[in-house]
Amino acid sequence: MSKRRITDLQSRRIEANQAKRKARALSTEVAFEEQDLGPEATGKIVAHFGASVLVEPALSPESLVSCSIRQNLPALVVGDDVVWQPSLKTEGGVVGALLTRKNLLYRGSIDRLVASNVDQLVVVLAPEPAPGVLTLDRYCIAGEHFGCDILVVVNKKDLLQPDDPLLQTLETYAQLGYPTVLAQTTEVDGLKALKHSLVGKTNILVGQSGVGKSSIVNHLIAEAKERTSGLTTSSRGKHTTSTTRLWHLADGGDLIDSPGVRQFWLTTLDDIDLQKGFVEFRPFLGECRFRNCSHEKEPNCAILEAVEAGKISTERLQHFYQIRSENHAFGNPDAK
Ligand code: GDP
Ligand code: ZN
Repeated sequence: MSKRRITDLQSRRIEANQAKRKARALSTEVAFEEQDLGPEATGKIVAHFGASVLVEPALSPESLVSCSIRQNLPALVVGDDVVWQPSLKTEGGVVGALLTRKNLLYRGSIDRLVASNVDQLVVVLAPEPAPGVLTLDRYCIAGEHFGCDILVVVNKKDLLQPDDPLLQTLETYAQLGYPTVLAQTTEVDGLKALKHSLVGKTNILVGQSGVGKSSIVNHLIAEAKERTSGLTTSSRGKHTTSTTRLWHLADGGDLIDSPGVRQFWLTTLDDIDLQKGFVEFRPFLGECRFRNCSHEKEPNCAILEAVEAGKISTERLQHFYQIRSENHAFGNPDAK
């Protein structure tokens, strides 16, 4: 008898919960009633606040709109181009569709999304703190994997010694085709060359702690804010420093500022993707005698032959070995 009563209680509770869930689902749907929404338009997500996003309409970029997100959409990030509809009842709107992304940047593993549609990864180094041996390789691999241009910035130009080993490093990467600029945030016009290299692109800054990224970003964003000072207070007021935000640079182009995410290395790339991250390896990939060649001591290894011929530096090959073994230690699927 008592067993039966418990079952009744349980089933009533289940029914009550189901009714609650249904009511909640209906209330979300009500917000999206088609008759309450204006015509579809395109826009770009310039900030993300978890449940809502700030959309910059393509046709009226000066008036940002806070939008909720339809439930059937994948996770959205800053930089996404979307289709949205204004609400006819409130000042907000609804994002209904995600347009094709050029790329999607993440850190660590694929579920830690950072931003999308990024043209250029700006890697910031400095004489102090001196970069680790593999730092620049790591960022170049990430940039290559995401299909970004890579710009190498050496900040704190004032601390560079004439025989600084960083200058030799720069030379190596310049030879690989990566453009390089010097910068100094403490000097008027110290960011002139950098600013020039950012024009017309969507940029994101990465680099180890202490090299001066915040100083650079603050400088560039102060200019960006000045440029957009005509924005309504409500849309500007939404900005908080801990949120990823896309800013339009004063000279054209964008800067995605992601304060919590300024260091990202990809530790989950498989060996094939890792090799592709070394640009100068690419012509030789797939040319080794053995398909699963480790490029260590196999006969007829195209990579080792390229090193012999001076087309790949011994240093970069050593870096490849080190990063591969580090990635295996992080537990990527190729771990032996
Ligand atoms: P972040 O950790 O990469 O964001 O670096 P910060 O922007 O916080 O800067 C770290 C330190 O470097 C701060 O003490 C800055 O004042 C200093 N710094 C930034 N830019 C320069 C520069 O051009 N020259 C020198 N000497 N110091 C700089
Ligand atoms: Zn090989």
